[in-house]
Amino acid sequence: MKNVEFSYSISPKKNILKIVHWHVKQGEQLFIHGPSGSGKSTLLNLICGLQTANLGNIRVLGKSFDMMSTRQKDKYRAEHIGYIFQQFNLIEYLNAIDNIKLARHFSSSAHEADFLPKVHALLLTLNLTSQDWYRPVNQLSVGQQQRVSIARALINKPKLIIADEPTSSLDQASRDNFISLLTSLCKKYGSTLLFVSHDMSLCQHFDISIALAQINSAKVIN
Ligand code: ADP
Ligand code: MG
Repeated sequence: MKNVEFSYSISPKKNILKIVHWHVKQGEQLFIHGPSGSGKSTLLNLICGLQTANLGNIRVLGKSFDMMSTRQKDKYRAEHIGYIFQQFNLIEYLNAIDNIKLARHFSSSAHEADFLPKVHALLLTLNLTSQDWYRPVNQLSVGQQQRVSIARALINKPKLIIADEPTSSLDQASRDNFISLLTSLCKKYGSTLLFVSHDMSLCQHFDISIALAQINSAKVIN
């Protein structure tokens, strides 16, 4: 990111983010902490091209979203970026496999013949056994749902994984298990990991930790 400034259109004079220069190396696992409302989700949405900066340049995996249509952005995102959300964003009435298939749908590898065996192997790695694969996800525990959301984010082996406070509804044991599964799979696939949370105690799980305020010079007052 270079000279990036962002404000929401309802309050255009209030910069949420002002980032003069920021760079993340490929393969790094970076934890970004900051209080609620400090702009963490906004930053991730800029990186995914879900929001557009008012000023400045953002390059993700060597590409800029500036010249892409919405459709091209969707495709690029589906192929190269895996997103794990705070509220999982799984489709409740679909089972684990169908939720993962949906993520695959938008990418060019959607019709690979070995897709299902790959999903099964990944779910087993994430300690989800076959009896859990075909139940609607709303019948799974919160910890199991979070592991389905890891599988969905990772099934395309994306170069970049973005996690937006994914552990806030987990107890400590499930949280530690979730982070260790996520970080080890990212290492295995060589994926860069950006993980944001307000919870500073998660720092210990990551190679590098920064406060959002270290890179963001906008003063966000809520
Ligand atoms: P965090 O993820 O760190 O909790 P956010 O990025 O969600 O912070 O929000 C940063 C600031 O932007 C907050 O002041 C919030 O109220 C504001 N904000 C977030 N989303 C929107 C939106 N869609 N429209 C207007 N303001 C928003
Ligand atoms: Mg947020």
